[in-house]
Amino acid sequence: MIVIMKPKTSAKHVAEVISQIEADGYQVNLADGDNQTLIGVVGESDKPFDPKKYEALPGVERVASVTVPYKLASREMHPQDTVVNVRGKVFGANKVQVIAGPCSVESREQIIDIAHAVKEAGAVALRGGAYKPRTSPYSFQGHGEKGLQWLAEAREQTGLPVVTEVMDSNLVPLVCQYADVLQIGARNMQNFALLHAVGESQHPVLLKRGMSSTMEDLLMAAEYILSHGNNRVMLCERGIRTFEKYTRNTFDLNAIPVLKHLSHLPVIADPSHAVGKREYVDALSRAAVAAGADGLIIEVHTDPEAALSDGRQTVSVPQFQQLMTHIQRIAEAIGRTA
Ligand code: PEP
Ligand code: MN
Repeated sequence: MIVIMKPKTSAKHVAEVISQIEADGYQVNLADGDNQTLIGVVGESDKPFDPKKYEALPGVERVASVTVPYKLASREMHPQDTVVNVRGKVFGANKVQVIAGPCSVESREQIIDIAHAVKEAGAVALRGGAYKPRTSPYSFQGHGEKGLQWLAEAREQTGLPVVTEVMDSNLVPLVCQYADVLQIGARNMQNFALLHAVGESQHPVLLKRGMSSTMEDLLMAAEYILSHGNNRVMLCERGIRTFEKYTRNTFDLNAIPVLKHLSHLPVIADPSHAVGKREYVDALSRAAVAAGADGLIIEVHTDPEAALSDGRQTVSVPQFQQLMTHIQRIAEAIGRTA
C-alpha cells in the first residue's frame, strides 16, 4: 500500500501518518518528491491495513495498492529516479557513467596501467574481479585479497572508485574494506544469503541479471537488498541465454527501457558479457545509451589477447577511447552527457 499525500502537505501531517503506520506494526518507505510525498507501507502486521482510516487523516490524498511484488524496487512506490552516489560519482542522473577495466585483476602492474588508461579515456570507475566465478575449476580463479589490495592501490593513484565482485556472503565484510561497489554476478543473482549480506552492508551494489532470469526475477533480487535497508542498488543487464550461439549471450535491449519504467533504480548495461565478442561492443554500447542506460560496464585490457579471462570480449585501450567518443555523441543526441 502507498499513502499518497496531498501536494505540499506539511511535514507535521507526514509525520503523523508515519507514526500511525508504525503504531499499526508496519514499516515505512518514504519517497519525498519536490512537490508530493508518498509513504510506502511495507512489511507484515497482525493488524489489517485499513485504507479508509488513513484516507481520513489530515493531508492524505488517497491510499493506493502497489500492484507489483517488488514493492521497494518499483516506480509505483518511488516515482523519482534513485541516484546512487559512489565517492562523488553519481549513477542514475543525467550523465551516462562508464565503469571500465579488465575482467580479472591479473597483477598489480596490469590493474594500475589499465586504471590510468580508462581514466584518461573518461571512465568514472574501475572494474576488475579478484574473486572470479569460472565455469571450470581449472580456469584462473582470481587473486583474492591480493587482487583487492591492488584495486585499492589503483584507486589511490587514479581516484577511480572500485567495482568488484563478491561471490560469498562470508566475504562481504572483507570485500567492503576495499570495494566501493559490490558486484553480484549473474550466477549469484538468486543467492539469497549473499543478497541479504550485501543488503546489510549498506555498500552500493551492482546487481547483474541472472543468465536465465526474467526482469521480474531481477527486480525481486533487488527487493531482497532493498528490504535489508540498502537503497544503493544498480541493476545490470548483461545478456541472457537464448538459442543463439553465434554470440555468447543475447543482449536484451528491451530490459533497459522496461526496467527504467518499472523501477526507480539506475540501469547499467554490460555489452561485453552480453555479446562476448569485442568487435560488437562499440555498437551495443551505443544502442544501450540510446535506449536510456544510466551507465555502461566495459571490459578493457592493455593486451586483450593475453587476458586471463574473457579476452575475446575485451576491448583494447584505443578501441575503448573510440567507444567513449561514440557514446558521447549518442548521449548528446538524447539530451544527456557522457
Ligand atoms: C564479470 O563481470 O566479469 C562477470 C563474471 O559477469 P557476469 O556475472 O555477468 O557473468
Ligand atoms: Mn568477465
